[in-house]
Amino acid sequence: MSEVVLAAAGLTKHFPVRRRARDLLAGRRRSVHAVDDVDLELRRGRVTAMVGESGSGKSTVARLLAQLYGRTAGTVRLHGKPMTVRSGRRFRAYCGRVQLVFQDPFASLNPAHTVRYHLTRALRLHGRAGSAAAELLERVQLAPPERFLDKFPHELSGGQRQRVAIARALAAGPEVLLADEPVSMLDVSIRLGVLNLLRDLKDRLNLAILYITHDIASARYFADEVLVMYAGRVVEGGDGETVTQHAAHPYTRLLIASAPDPDTIAGRPAAAPAEPAGGEPPSLIDPPAGCRFHPRCPHVMSVCRERVPPRLDVGDRAGHWAACWLYRGDT
Ligand code: SF4
Repeated sequence: MSEVVLAAAGLTKHFPVRRRARDLLAGRRRSVHAVDDVDLELRRGRVTAMVGESGSGKSTVARLLAQLYGRTAGTVRLHGKPMTVRSGRRFRAYCGRVQLVFQDPFASLNPAHTVRYHLTRALRLHGRAGSAAAELLERVQLAPPERFLDKFPHELSGGQRQRVAIARALAAGPEVLLADEPVSMLDVSIRLGVLNLLRDLKDRLNLAILYITHDIASARYFADEVLVMYAGRVVEGGDGETVTQHAAHPYTRLLIASAPDPDTIAGRPAAAPAEPAGGEPPSLIDPPAGCRFHPRCPHVMSVCRERVPPRLDVGDRAGHWAACWLYRGDT
């Protein structure tokens, strides 16, 4: 296994909810439990996919790792060193090593500025003013660069815009890319090209990539490791092939069963949500006790309603685990 670049342990984020009169009277503080107790490791030259329905907390995890949000609890370590940075020079240095690519390239690029401006500004900010914006465009396969440098975002296609956003992230010379649904807003015909680009960059630059997606089929295609997230918690993990071909957690199975044909990423309807059958995800203001999936689970037992299941070895392949009482060995 390659070196761990970025790791999180016990990562937790609760967002306070504005108190209403009855909360004030009862002296009650409520919060959205967006992320609870998430552990993960991002390794050099590997893609880790974080898969889940919208609202499961996966984008919050990306923002916590990017240190755009403060943590409620937990640690983030870069090369083993604990990191808490929110502003100033240390934050900029951290961003130089851990870059976030947003879902919507149109929103993340300033419409008033050219591609050249976006790239040279990023290079300058990260102390790499000597490097050429043209090289970055070649790296993301926008060639010849002269065709793109003086264009404004609205003059580019969605795929070209996302490639420029990726080039801007590369301007910092990062070790980690946090890609938050990087293809979900693109035309189906160009998604595969952008995923292939990310894979190529991962290999050539030895990047550690976190790929956030609601689409388990694309995770199967693209990721080395897969983590499945439900209602703020990670419920299953393992290598991509094992989790997607031999899913252990009842929620992962539902996610796979509800996904369209897994072999046709390029031919899928745009932004198809992975919405499993059998009810809705719970409110995260007052999440269910025990296993958060228990109100929807066809295998629910009494212990599931009372105790949060730990990570348990599934026993089929090394490193495959599920947070599910079905695997505790005595059921
Ligand atoms: Fe279902 Fe219980 Fe497993 Fe949760 S812990 S997924 S409720 S069997």
